[in-house]
Amino acid sequence: MKTIAILGSTGSIGTQTLEIVRENPDLQVAGLAAGSNVALMEKQAREFKPRLVSMQSESAAKDLAQRLADTDIEVMHGMEGLLRIAQMPEMEMLVTAIVGMIGIRPTIAAIKAHKDIALANKETLVTAGHIIMPLAAREGVAILPVDSEHSAIFQSLQGQKRESVSKLLITASGGPFRGRTRKELEGVQLEDALKHPNWSMGHKITVDSATLVNKGLEVMEARWLFDVGLDDIEVVVHPQSIIHSMVEYADGGIIAQLGMPDMKLPIQYALFYPDRRPMNGKRVNFYELGSITFEKPDVETFTGLKLAMRAAREGGSMPTVFNAANEKAVSLFLQKKIRFLEIMDIIEMCMDAHKRIDEPGVEEILGAEQEAYEHILAKY
Ligand code: NAD
Ligand code: MG
Repeated sequence: MKTIAILGSTGSIGTQTLEIVRENPDLQVAGLAAGSNVALMEKQAREFKPRLVSMQSESAAKDLAQRLADTDIEVMHGMEGLLRIAQMPEMEMLVTAIVGMIGIRPTIAAIKAHKDIALANKETLVTAGHIIMPLAAREGVAILPVDSEHSAIFQSLQGQKRESVSKLLITASGGPFRGRTRKELEGVQLEDALKHPNWSMGHKITVDSATLVNKGLEVMEARWLFDVGLDDIEVVVHPQSIIHSMVEYADGGIIAQLGMPDMKLPIQYALFYPDRRPMNGKRVNFYELGSITFEKPDVETFTGLKLAMRAAREGGSMPTVFNAANEKAVSLFLQKKIRFLEIMDIIEMCMDAHKRIDEPGVEEILGAEQEAYEHILAKY
């Protein structure tokens, strides 16, 4: 029996994690946290019987507590709820499937409480990787990647010596707008940005895939997870999303992980590592596939990746500003308050205005986030 908790249980990764729990009776759920979907949380609570659940707002928690009045499930809300779930004594592994930097404090709390982390919440690693990774090493906690590219790299590193790695090759689908010019992107609508060619995901990461910000975040995520220099990470556009990422070794040999684009595999691999459990679903059929292709990312059109590389090289608090500006800009885009290309303009504006802090602590990271938010709100 393995006991887990999920932050972000009603989202794309969260619901797929619960599907795996449903298919594996030796998994048990101690705690669930979500934003505002009370109806789905009630259903999840009744099916998976966690001891503790949490919603973002107090009013959502009140509503949920009323609905669950006939059970003995405890209901909390806000950061307090996230932190309690992150440290539940009976829980062994925390699945961080929440979206955004809000995951920083619960992730740190879970590591300090010696919980292994199945990490989907890349924004936490991008902004606080310099705190999280050394802390996890000191506490002897495993950080298992859920992101498909990082899971692919992790799988491709099994049984190999770290010293013989020469570079990581992160694949990218290129998103729904691959091949378009900046001019052609001027009028694109939210609905177009939400049509990802291969993956079905939450709204924020789907928009991030269209700007290539997601790939930029993933380069920074990889750098922390695998302790490699930025010059040893390369992004390769591979529109079919069959190769999920690769590792090139000193002898020129490349080990890759392939499969259908389905997040359940990397989620399940993180939950049961080093075991591979059976899983249903479509398999790659090479005869049907025929060919797969590769190209260089167009960073002059999709400046999200270029700005991410700049933020990564400048380091310190700059990745936080990159990420915070993107979170805010994407939320404005999802509310149809700004145009698609403005997302990247806003990120650049915030980065240009920021005075970089070296080795920021959690308070300074949250301060830099706030500064970026205020900078944007003053203009939009
Ligand atoms: P999503 O928007 O579908 O789900 C986010 C979840 O977090 C929801 O349950 C939401 O209610 C919850 N949440 C948001 N704010 C909260 C708050 N303040 N308090 C409590 N709960 C809150 O997002 P997603 O696509 O599942 O992505 C989750 C994370 O995983 C992101 O960091 C994303 O980059 C990463 N990721 C996702 C995928 C994917 O296929 N969806 C792939 C790789 C990585
Ligand atoms: Mg990914």
